[in-house]
Amino acid sequence: MTTSESLDTLRHSAAHIMARAVMRLYPNVQLAFGPNVENGFYYDFLMEHRLTEEDFPKIEAEIKKLIKLNEEFERIELPVSEAVELLYGIGQTLKVEHIRESLACPHPNPLPEGEGTNNVLPPTGGELEGGLNGERTVSLYRQGEFLDLCRGPHIERPKEIGAFKLMSLAGAYWKGDASNPQLQRLYGTAFFNKKELEEHLHQIEEAKKRDHRVLGKQHELFALDSRVGQGLILWLPKGAIVRRQLENFISEELVKRGYQQIYTPVIGNIELFKTSGHYPYYAESQFPPIQLPDGQQQEAGGRKQEAGDSREKVETPLASAAACRLPPAASHAVLLRPMNCPHHIMVYQQKPRSYRDLPYRIAEFGCVHRFEQSGELSGMTRVRGFTQDDAHIFCMPEQVEAEFRACIEMTLNVLQTMGFRDFEVRLSFRDWTSDKYVGSAENWKIAQASLEKVCKEMDLPNLDIVEGEAAFYGPKADFVVKDCLGRRWQLGTVQLDYSLPSPERFHLEYTGADNKPHTPVMIHRAPLGSFERFFGILIEHFAAAFPLWLAPEQIRILTVSEKFGDYGHAVLSKLQASGLRASLDNRSEKIGAKIREGRLDLVPYLAVVGAKEAENDSVALRSHKEGELGEVSVDGVVEKLVKEVRMRVL
Ligand SMILES: [Zn+2]
Ligand SMILES: [Zn+2]
Repeated sequence: MTTSESLDTLRHSAAHIMARAVMRLYPNVQLAFGPNVENGFYYDFLMEHRLTEEDFPKIEAEIKKLIKLNEEFERIELPVSEAVELLYGIGQTLKVEHIRESLACPHPNPLPEGEGTNNVLPPTGGELEGGLNGERTVSLYRQGEFLDLCRGPHIERPKEIGAFKLMSLAGAYWKGDASNPQLQRLYGTAFFNKKELEEHLHQIEEAKKRDHRVLGKQHELFALDSRVGQGLILWLPKGAIVRRQLENFISEELVKRGYQQIYTPVIGNIELFKTSGHYPYYAESQFPPIQLPDGQQQEAGGRKQEAGDSREKVETPLASAAACRLPPAASHAVLLRPMNCPHHIMVYQQKPRSYRDLPYRIAEFGCVHRFEQSGELSGMTRVRGFTQDDAHIFCMPEQVEAEFRACIEMTLNVLQTMGFRDFEVRLSFRDWTSDKYVGSAENWKIAQASLEKVCKEMDLPNLDIVEGEAAFYGPKADFVVKDCLGRRWQLGTVQLDYSLPSPERFHLEYTGADNKPHTPVMIHRAPLGSFERFFGILIEHFAAAFPLWLAPEQIRILTVSEKFGDYGHAVLSKLQASGLRASLDNRSEKIGAKIREGRLDLVPYLAVVGAKEAENDSVALRSHKEGELGEVSVDGVVEKLVKEVRMRVL
């Protein structure tokens, strides 16, 4: 058992103890589910008493008592009928209902979706096992008077729980359905020892301090304004500088790697998205189509037609003959694009392509819009409009592996330059039982095998293959990075696509060496994902103290008194002429106050100038990271900083 697995087992066992404590303290408590989540667990209760944080000390004291009692967790396996009787007898009707629903369902372990924040199946949902004599059995766990339907596993004795803390409260519905009774969700966490718990609590405090929504406002990096619209980001001048540096960095990489950059519009004819399948597949997460005036006569009928659009229409190739079959209103609608791919495909189709043109790599910082639910919007990490560092590669099937490998290498290089050295690569493959995917099964098999082969050959750390997580058009590799607080963020992505270029979709072609038409393969990739989300994560990772090459203001000259204003200006000109983002603070404030302000503004370098420095053509340099660096000639400062910027030192 790995440490993380045993921590999971410890926490899950702690959830039982928490539930037992709540049942001891309050009358008529019914248990729902109690799964583990990212940094702990919760348990949902149906109960009369309204829990508040003021109840926490009392519950924690009871938990302490139960841990001290140290009664063992006992596994009991019973035929379903007996388990139902037993649970009914102790008033646990929600669990009885769950068993009954599970029996009626053909799947062996039909646990509700949406439980837990990271798709952890609730172990306390119980599991139906195939019985020897035809009747299925379920497992229960008993500890003292406490009995719960659960598939385990558990620790042997509660004494292993070295530290425990109740974290928060929330509301929930039984099986996530708002028409069901409302439950009270109690969150807790547990560790093997007190030190680990303290580290975790410290990390939560750190995360609060680094919240990009707070720092973004404080340092004037970006803004959200309801007058503009929910989830729409205003990049303020300082944030825009950081973004521009990221764009420049990516652009340099594109040139080195044989990409060509393009610009395409943020809207497109709805037919384009019907052909691609983005509409109506993702209709609910897109902004509604914009009907153009020419289509107004047909508007009502046209809209209706779209809402119930059939698969047959989706399969329509982008050809004028096919477009004529559609109601005119539908053809007079445009969509705010949710993806850049269809526009890039149109670029590919501007002329006949030969095998000699491939791989054809085109890139764009492409702005897209998605209609996220307002409840899901959060700062820069969940938005409605964002710009992807997108690119599409059109290549021959035999070039897929090399191209995919190059994409992975670029993503690694980009993320490592930004200081993310700890990451996982998640390969998302299709769920073979679902019919939501487009393209032939054979192509999916080839695509998935290629991805897996490359990832294994490159010896990527923490490679994880997840079935059922693929995009509808192809398998993908996602990069999940760990920031300085150990939190995981999904960033870059590389996706293979045998579907969009196919004759059923855009019917892309190239002429092969055999002089015959062939279908290219498409690769979609975005190393950062989106600039918005990446910037939000970057703010938290660096706590807004950006490394020199990204910093909005790289160096600030501080005069010890206004007398040295002329010299300050001369230094400023020299730094600016070298391409450095420099500024001058020549106010009549005390130098101590100016330095304090410069530090609070997280300026990487402060250069103090007074009589001695004016005399020597130098500055007293102070680094935000390393402190006082002493007197350095102005030429020396330029050389040092320009080199640091060029090397993108962190
Ligand atoms: Zn359990
Ligand atoms: Zn794409």
